[in-house]
Amino acid sequence: MFDVIIVGAGPAGLSACLEAKKNNLNYLCLEQNKIANTIRNYPKGKKIQKDYMGVSLEKEGELFFEEVSREELIEKWERIVHEEKLNIKENDNVLDIKKEDETFKVIANSGEYKTKNVILAIGRMSSPRKLEVVGEDQNNVFYRLDDPGEYSDKNILVVGGGNSAIEAALLLSKKNKVTLSYRKSELFRLTNENQEGIAKNENVNVIFESNVEEINGKEVSLNIKGEIKKLEFDYVFILVGFNLPTEFLDRIGVEVGEGIESNIKGIYLIGDIKEVKNITHAINDGKKAIEVLKNGL
Ligand SMILES: Cc1cc2nc3c(=O)[nH]c(=O)nc-3n(C[C@H](O)[C@H](O)[C@H](O)COP(=O)(O)OP(=O)(O)OC[C@H]3O[C@@H](n4cnc5c(N)ncnc54)[C@H](O)[C@@H]3O)c2cc1C
Repeated sequence: MFDVIIVGAGPAGLSACLEAKKNNLNYLCLEQNKIANTIRNYPKGKKIQKDYMGVSLEKEGELFFEEVSREELIEKWERIVHEEKLNIKENDNVLDIKKEDETFKVIANSGEYKTKNVILAIGRMSSPRKLEVVGEDQNNVFYRLDDPGEYSDKNILVVGGGNSAIEAALLLSKKNKVTLSYRKSELFRLTNENQEGIAKNENVNVIFESNVEEINGKEVSLNIKGEIKKLEFDYVFILVGFNLPTEFLDRIGVEVGEGIESNIKGIYLIGDIKEVKNITHAINDGKKAIEVLKNGL
């Protein structure tokens, strides 16, 4: 019987692992891909920023975090996992969690595990939000930017107004003509770096109060303040956020609320699944959850 099973090995899950180890808890972390899967999906070479989402926090958890590149951060965390011998199973998807009296049965690809507590550190990045418009399923439409270096001399539409969209637009604008379509009249919750970057950049044409209505091959119908304009783009990047994994949460019966403790005693929610913020917030949540649950063991 484990004291705690941690689902997800992003910054929140990794931080909880370190804290569980420090407190001599019998823990296991199950990760459906490789550790830090969300960070692996950032654009190649991206510099990690600390005040992401406009939220500046002091780091309380032990997990290393500096403003390094995506690649350096992953390498550092892989080294920590190895050196600390953290008990993490990669490529192991958690499918369901069942309450059995005062304990839980965690059902994963690799088998079933019994535990006194469960920490859900699953983030939200597995399900990107869609626009729900015709043509969104075409092969020139993407929901993440992997390698900006793959694109040059193209006409590219980026949809969204958050940090991911701005970063993608700035990276792509180095070698391409970029248009940013955003539904609101101004940008908000940006990091200082992204705010200054987009203000200074003359290669990104920002169209506020615009919505994509349809994508037909290269032709995109854009509703700009009520007027439909048809514009041509080689590629469309839709970077408008992520949905909660509601199917998974409903199956377990967990509701996302304000705090770390969920509506089911013994199940904790940490990091982005609780509230979309940033890496520091996720790391701090990992530490807090172990502090709270160890008192009840
Ligand atoms: C493009 C982009 C750029 C960003 N840049 C920054 C930045 O510069 N600075 C910053 O601070 N923040 C940044 N963020 C936000 C940051 O990535 C998140 O706030 C942070 O990753 C949240 O950590 P987490 O551990 O809660 O979730 P995640 O990092 O999303 O980790 C969740 C983990 O759970 C795993 N998982 C999910 N479901 C299951 C399951 N059923 N079974 C097993 N495993 C599962 C996933 O594979 C994943 O590894 C960025 C986000 C995006 C999308």
